[in-house]
Formats: sequence, structure tokens, C-alpha cells
Amino acid sequence: MAELIKVNNISKSFGDNTVLKNLDLTILKGEVIAIIGSSGSGKSTLVRCMAGLENTENGEILLKDKIIQNVKSTNGLIGMVFQNFNLFPHYTVLENLTKPCQTVKKMNSKDAKEKAMNLLKKVHLQDKFNQYPSTLSGGQKQRVAIARALSMDPEIIIFDEPTSSLDPELAHEVFETISTLAHEGQTMVIVTHQINAIRHFATRVLFLNKGQIEEEGTPKYIFEECTNPKLKKFLQIVD
Ligand code: ADP
Ligand code: MG
Repeated sequence: MAELIKVNNISKSFGDNTVLKNLDLTILKGEVIAIIGSSGSGKSTLVRCMAGLENTENGEILLKDKIIQNVKSTNGLIGMVFQNFNLFPHYTVLENLTKPCQTVKKMNSKDAKEKAMNLLKKVHLQDKFNQYPSTLSGGQKQRVAIARALSMDPEIIIFDEPTSSLDPELAHEVFETISTLAHEGQTMVIVTHQINAIRHFATRVLFLNKGQIEEEGTPKYIFEECTNPKLKKFLQIVD
């Protein structure tokens, strides 16, 4: 399978706090990678580096063989979905999708609207198209954010704790959407503590510890077989 992202020996510090240490990672097209690890282990920093939102001190990150230097150099190939939705509050649900399609993708308003409505159908929110984000539940907001990320036709979507501000029922509906995308072959990286939600569709799980990939493998290996005491301790806490 084709390599989409290649992280070569990156390190990152904030002051004297070394957050990522000589980290390597290759992501192939079609992989669904879950990243787990304690708070402060570097998960957000790693995915922000991959999205071009942070620079690295050494090493390099390649996206389809081109070096990522900043968000611009990701060329819209990477979509990000954050914990706090980041929707435009003064735009309707539909406009949250159509405006970026028109400005970034240079689509005309008719095509943008058609595309947006199809994506809203996909996340089961077509009937909310004319509402403002403030009138939606957290789960619905996050599904709009996912539809908006999809509207840019990204090669890869990165989720950074997409459900950590949602109660379990709403988190479940967001993971249903993510699971559907996984089954469609969408390449994704998902930072989450919700192990039961991702164990059925993640193709690989990375356990990050102090800025390094301490363990990686299939969900079965990471959640059932691996005997690494640091991982076992972490899994007991989040269970
Ligand atoms: P995680 O997502 O696993 O909780 P982060 O990548 O957010 O971890 O943070 C890793 C470490 O880097 C933490 O110690 C955090 O305080 C620090 N850190 C993250 N972002 C910044 C920043 N912009 N400035 C200073 N320190 C930061
Ligand atoms: Mg984080």
C-alpha cells in the first residue's frame, strides 16, 4: 500500500520540556491509526506536527513524499477535527460547509451546496442544514465538523480527542460516523481515550509514552496480549 505520511526521526521541545523524542512513524493509505497515551505524553503535539500546525526541531515529516513545513504545505490533504468542534458560529450548518468549498476549493455556490448536502446526509444531519451551530447538540456539532473536514476531500483526517467533551451517548454517535468512514477506507488518525469505541475498527494502535512510541500493534495485541507494564497500567486507568 502507498505511504501517505512518513515521520522521520522528529523531536520537539517547548523550552526544556522535550515532548517528542526521535519519533518515527509511517502511515499507509487506508490505515486507521488510534493513538493512546497519558495526558502530556505528546499525542496532540505529534498530530499537530503532522498537520503542519507545529514545526519540528530535527527530522522531517513527508506527506506523499513532500516535506510538511506548515499548514499551507499540506495542500488541503490533511483534515483536522478537534475536541471543541471549531465551527463558524455565525454561519449556518450548510454555510459551514459551503463557504470553505467556495473559498478554498473555488467551487461555485450550486456545486458547493450539492456537495455539502450530500455530506450532511452522510452524517445524518441534512434536516439541520439551515440551523446555526449553537442550536445543535455537541454530537451533532462534531458530525458537522466531520462533514466539513470531508468537504475538502482530504487524503487523511486527524481527530484529536473528538469526543472528550461529549457525554457517552453523543460520543457513541460520533464514533458511529467515524466507524462508517473507517469501513469506507478513509485513512484516519484518531487520538482518543475511548478504547472500546475504536477497538473494532482501528487497524493499528500506538501507545505513546513520554514522546516516544512505546508499543504499537493491532487492537488485539495492544488491548489483550501486550504485557508492557506501562501500557497495562495506562489501560487500567482509562477502562
Ligand atoms: P497530550 O495531547 O498527549 O496530552 P500534548 O502534546 O498536548 O500532550 O503535550 C505534551 C507536553 O507538551 C505537555 O507537557 C504540554 O504541557 C506541553 N505543551 C504542549 N503544547 C505546548 C505549548 N504550545 N507550549 C508549551 N508547552 C506545550
Ligand atoms: Mg492532547
